[in-house]
Amino acid sequence: MKKFDAIVVGSGYGGAVSAFRLAQAGLNVAVLETGYEHKAPNMPRGEASEWNPEAGRFGPHTVQHLSETVTAWRDTAVGGGSIVNAAVMIRKDDFENWPGCIIRSALDPYYDLAERMLGAASIAPPARQATA
Ligand SMILES: Cc1cc2nc3c(=O)[nH]c(=O)nc-3n(C[C@H](O)[C@H](O)[C@H](O)COP(=O)(O)OP(=O)(O)OC[C@H]3O[C@@H](n4cnc5c(N)ncnc54)[C@H](O)[C@@H]3O)c2cc1C
Repeated sequence: MKKFDAIVVGSGYGGAVSAFRLAQAGLNVAVLETGYEHKAPNMPRGEASEWNPEAGRFGPHTVQHLSETVTAWRDTAVGGGSIVNAAVMIRKDDFENWPGCIIRSALDPYYDLAERMLGAASIAPPARQATA
């Protein structure tokens, strides 16, 4: 039986980064993921895309109405939320009363690193539309 030094459950942002860092530190790591794998080459594009609201397709996930006021948008996949999220990276405002006396500025080096590794780029604000 194959042995691992660490087993990470879930391959979303948290799990993927944890597994990456553990492997970088020289550990033999396994990642357990319950979801299926979307590979870029076999992801349908254009008209056949999984995201095609006009054709009634809203992506690789399930929308479930739990009650009149609660709707859950859920599914599982290799990559977790990174498969469906909007890829917007916003730095948290200053805050108080976090555990461990964390202060906002202490996070800046990690925001810098994450933005560099993920290739974050600014986008231009939308052009104002002329109002009639
Ligand atoms: C539609 C949408 C848009 C978003 N847009 C943004 C955005 O623009 N910017 C932003 O910063 N954040 C955004 N988010 C939030 C962001 O995606 C999540 O905060 C992030 O994915 C959480 O990461 P995570 O690793 O904690 O969990 P997840 O990414 O949810 O990963 C958990 C993983 O664990 C797996 N798993 C669960 N249970 C088991 C089990 N028992 N065994 C094995 N595997 C299991 C799941 O399949 C999943 O792959 C968005 C989220 C959604 C849903």
